[in-house]
Order: sequence, then structure tokens, then C-alpha cells
Amino acid sequence: MKKPLFSLRIAAVLLALVMLVTGNAVWSATAATKSELEQKLELLERQETQIKQQLASAKNDLSASQQRKNLIDSQIANVQQQIDLLDTQVQNMNAQITAVESQITAAEKEIADKEAAIAQTRENLGTRLRAIAKTGNMTTLQLLFSVDNYKDYLIKAKAMQLIADNDQAAIEAYEAQVASIATQQADLENKKVDLEEQKQQLETVRASSNAKKKQLDTLYAAAQAEVKKLQSTVSGYNSQLAAKQREMEETEKEITKLIQNTTSTGQYNNSMMYWPVPTVRAISSTFGVRWGTMHRGIDIANGPIPIYGQNIVAAADGTVIYANYTSVWGGGYGYYCIIDHGKDSRGRSVTTLYAHCSKMYARVGQKVVGGKTVIAQAGSTGNVTGPHLHFEVRLDAKSVDPLGTYVSPNVN
Ligand SMILES: [Zn+2]
Repeated sequence: MKKPLFSLRIAAVLLALVMLVTGNAVWSATAATKSELEQKLELLERQETQIKQQLASAKNDLSASQQRKNLIDSQIANVQQQIDLLDTQVQNMNAQITAVESQITAAEKEIADKEAAIAQTRENLGTRLRAIAKTGNMTTLQLLFSVDNYKDYLIKAKAMQLIADNDQAAIEAYEAQVASIATQQADLENKKVDLEEQKQQLETVRASSNAKKKQLDTLYAAAQAEVKKLQSTVSGYNSQLAAKQREMEETEKEITKLIQNTTSTGQYNNSMMYWPVPTVRAISSTFGVRWGTMHRGIDIANGPIPIYGQNIVAAADGTVIYANYTSVWGGGYGYYCIIDHGKDSRGRSVTTLYAHCSKMYARVGQKVVGGKTVIAQAGSTGNVTGPHLHFEVRLDAKSVDPLGTYVSPNVN
């Protein structure tokens, strides 16, 4: 008897909706409008979840890649520091070698000078002795037999002896100097050999450090390219996500319009509602911004009793204004329904929404009794990671935090 009346009401509501969206050729029939909206939302939410998963995975990859890049970066810095140190050491070594080389050159010149001096002294001595001996063209024997010249001979002989002694002393001094300088030169040559060896070792280490740095540079370039690629992947997913979220907001607006254009019947009595799952009173997620997006309700799950298949009751007296039970499995809200509880004392329409159900008993137009009428069974249809009831309270179609104000796991 009542059923045709409700059908008429729904038809009127949907007709109003169609009038509202006149111009969109796709929404040609009232029945198709709701179904299309639901399916559109479900599809969008499914796509959004997929993109979010892809984005999270790409972000993970990016972070891992960034870490690899940073590690290589610090390794390069270490090796570069070693190379710089080695460069400084090789430079010092070169300076030392140059100094020793110039000392060796100086020693060589000094030895050459002394040797030249020795040769000169020897030559001078010979020349003078020959000059004295030739004086008067007489031999020593001739001098001995010449009384007149005997005194002269003695003077000459003494002078020759003095000159010979002086020059011999000078030659001996020079030779001692030459020997000392030659010892110094040999020490310097040994020092130079040591320095060359040390320098060779440093250059070997530097060559291997350079090779290591070259290897790291190659790795770094690869890591940098990977980071760049992943960054563009992440940015691609971000823009896809943003577009999807804008599209979802549009669909949410359309759903809101649908509720707003449903005539709210009755009066909400302003008392606390009944807890929608009498056997499960645990909350797994609260109302508000979650992972960057708005969570429009609370999630009920994770109590001592598994929620899957548990009865869901109407939170308050009212009329079912929306219920889906034949739509595409797995998308968005899954199987869900909306109940109108009438206007509150401030004239706002009060509605509740129950999502992700495994079974839907509620039918549009059905009158329900708060805490008594079983409208559905809890499940995991739509975008979920596990079974739970997603429960919303809406005032004039706008979702509000239901916890404390409308429901409490400890009340009703
Ligand atoms: Zn939820």
C-alpha cells in the first residue's frame, strides 16, 4: 500500500535531479542517473587508490635512489679529499727533489772548481820550477863546480824548496775539500733516490684513487639519472592524482546535490544515535584529513569479534534514500546506503551513510527503526585494505565528525 507512494516520491526526486542537470545527454533516464553517478564515483575512487599505490611505490624507489646517490656523493667527497692530500704530498716531494737537485748541481760545480784549482796549482808549480832550473843554463853539477855561483845556487835551491812546499800544501787542502764535497754529493744522491721512491709510491696511490673516483663518478651519474627519472615519474603520478582528486570532488558535489534534492522527512530527535555495529565497538580510523585527503567518516573494525558479516543497524529512525546492491563490485564505497533521519532542531537534514557492506538489505523508501532494523552486513567492498564499516553523518549533505556528538561506542 505504501510502496507505490515511495516510488512516486523517489521518481519525483529524480525528476527534479534530471531537471537540475538538463543539458547532459548521458543522464537521459532517472534510473540511469543514480547508477551512473555511483559507478563513476566508484571507478574514480578505484583509480585514485591505484594511482596512490603507484605514487607511494615510486616515492619509495625515489627515496632509495636518493639515498644511494647521497652515499656515492659522500664516497666521492672522501676520495677527492684523499686525492687532494696526495696532490699536496706529491707537490711537497717535488719541491724537496728540486731542492736536492740544485744542491747536487752546486756540489758538482764546487768539485769541478776545486779540481780546476788543483790542476792550475800543479801547472803553476811546474812552470816556476822549470823557470828556476833553466836560469843561467846550468845544471846542478855545473853549479857545484862554480864557486862564484855557489851562493847563488843555494839561494835558488831554497826558493825552489819553499815554492814546492807551499804549492803542495795548497794542493793537499784542495784535495781534502774535494773529498768532503764528494761525500756530501753522494749523500745528496742517496737522498734524491729516497725521495723519488716516496714520490713513486704516492703517485701509485694517487693513480688508484683517481681510478676509484672515476668509477664513483660513473655510479653517481647513473644514480643522478635514476633520481631524475623517478622524480618525473613521481611528478607524473602527482598530477594524475591531483586530476583524479579534482574529478572526485566534482562527483562528491553531484552526490551532495542528490542528497540535497531529496526531501528530508520527519524530525531528528537530537538524541545520541545507536552504534551502527552492536557487536563491534572498536574504531580503526577517525574523521578528518588522512594521508592528504579528507576522511568523511569513521571506520569501525578491529574489535575482539571480526567485523566481516556482522549486522549493521540503522543509527536512528528514518527512511532509506539511497542503497546500491547491484553496482560494480570493489569500487569506492562498495555496497552502501544512505538513510534520511529528518531535520534537526536547527532545520538541517540529518543523514547517515554506511559503506563497504558485504550484503545490502536496505531498499530505497524503506522505513527503518534506530538500533533495530538490520540494513546491511559489514564487509570489504569498494576501496578498502580490510573489512570495516565506513560510517558518515551528514548535515545538509555535509559530512561532520560523528564521534561524541552523534555516536559513541559506549552509548546505545
Ligand atoms: Zn572510512
